[in-house]
Amino acid sequence: MFDHIEIIDISLPLNNKTIFYPNNPPIKIEKINSGSSVISKIEMGSHSGTHIDAPSHVIDSGLNIDQLPLADFIGPCRVLDLTNCDKFVSKENLINKNIQPNERILLKTKNSIHGFEKFYDDFIYLTPDGAEYLADLSIKLIGIDYLSIKQKGSTDTTAHTAFLSKNIPIIEGLDLSKVLEDEYTLIATPLKFTGIDGAPARVVLLKSPN
Ligand SMILES: [Zn+2]
Repeated sequence: MFDHIEIIDISLPLNNKTIFYPNNPPIKIEKINSGSSVISKIEMGSHSGTHIDAPSHVIDSGLNIDQLPLADFIGPCRVLDLTNCDKFVSKENLINKNIQPNERILLKTKNSIHGFEKFYDDFIYLTPDGAEYLADLSIKLIGIDYLSIKQKGSTDTTAHTAFLSKNIPIIEGLDLSKVLEDEYTLIATPLKFTGIDGAPARVVLLKSPN
């Protein structure tokens, strides 16, 4: 079944140099001598690298990452090319993309072209009106190619709350540099931490040959 399917890894590598969002814990990995085998001690925040935000990230008594159905994270998805946007992605940029309810939507922006070597503040984000537009359409999942979907420093939290108040998970920290606007199958299962606000995930796209 998988013989001719291309697997595209859209996750960030996790190591001591991985960029992290300001005031989040950096990733710290340390090899530990356990006697006869090698193990590593890993310290990281729940929103490290490519990760998924659960409703409890911003909603009081919202669902935790383990309470979201796995079916949200596996299935058809569409990558939208928004690399023409210079500062943000807004409703105006999305309205002609014919987005339908229950779609999984990944936003490819200039962030993917800029790369992930060093954290920068003026990354491309989703505007409040863009978030409300997509959440009102009841899409199944949203993803973006930087460590936050919300403008850095903005007190308007709509980019998070519009989705998470409707239990629409947000994938952040995607690397879409090698991906074109198209339809794919998404696999984005978060690690099974229980009772917390988010978790890293290995996220891949599957593409069948045409
Ligand atoms: Zn997050």
